[in-house]
Amino acid sequence: MFGDCHIHMVLDGVYYRDAINAHRGHVRDDLIRATLTDYARAGIRYLRDGGDAFGVCQRARALAPEYGIEYRIPCFPICLKGRYGSFIGRTFETMADYRALVAEVDSAGGDFIKIMISGLMDFDRYGVVTSTPLSARQIREMIDIAHGEGFSVMAHANGAETIQAALEAGVDSVEHGAYMNADTVRAMAQSGAVWVPTLSTVGNLIGNGRYPDAVLRRILDGQLRNIAECARQGGAIALGSDAGAYCVFHTRAVEDEYAWLERALGAGTEVVITAGEAEIRRRFRRGGLASFTKGRETHDAD
Ligand SMILES: [Zn+2]
Repeated sequence: MFGDCHIHMVLDGVYYRDAINAHRGHVRDDLIRATLTDYARAGIRYLRDGGDAFGVCQRARALAPEYGIEYRIPCFPICLKGRYGSFIGRTFETMADYRALVAEVDSAGGDFIKIMISGLMDFDRYGVVTSTPLSARQIREMIDIAHGEGFSVMAHANGAETIQAALEAGVDSVEHGAYMNADTVRAMAQSGAVWVPTLSTVGNLIGNGRYPDAVLRRILDGQLRNIAECARQGGAIALGSDAGAYCVFHTRAVEDEYAWLERALGAGTEVVITAGEAEIRRRFRRGGLASFTKGRETHDAD
């Protein structure tokens, strides 16, 4: 059974405000334990959480060994004040503030750094990404600082330019990754970063009536084409559903995401995502960045 390389324990797939409020001020062990029980029963043994500012993923990681689950966390996602992500993450205004947040993740025992560098797909308007993305310079500085502290970096990124900037700065995984162009797909395949396209966040909405199906299908089709091309060029792709997001339900999202990925990867699905998950598991833990960098240097020296 595959793990899920992108979940949010704090969210429930229904309504993010209610889900967050349930834990606010007092993290609910009963809710976390119920979800971990479901994951364990489904045979899911690896979870990488995208983080939350309410202490839920930290508590989930503490409980996960009781359920035989390897659970990796960034503590909280880090986002620029006024840009997308503050509903779930912690914000910074200056790079000094950002450094302080990275140091906080370090002292709280975080496994990696999660950064939010763009908005979301606007499901009403094809091609539109909500919110202003961070600049290439900001993205590079954030990734450099995290790498300098020995952390791998998971980046929430949509839009070709933003993804390209993250790849050029050496990001370790790209989450969502909508609206890549042919150059970005090539850069992704050649980068050594892992792409976690979270297709369930789009595909699971088709037919439910909240957004126009024509827009959802067009976004999904673009992602499927890019995934197929990225894999063809040898890129790393992992299964991560963004479980907890709207209409993406914990545990069963692994099957949803597999089915969506299969549409792009066909008979090669299992091989591609087994390799992608192995790379995520290797890199997104303390010390994982060093082993990756060392491996790359060794390889370069051959
Ligand atoms: Zn997420």
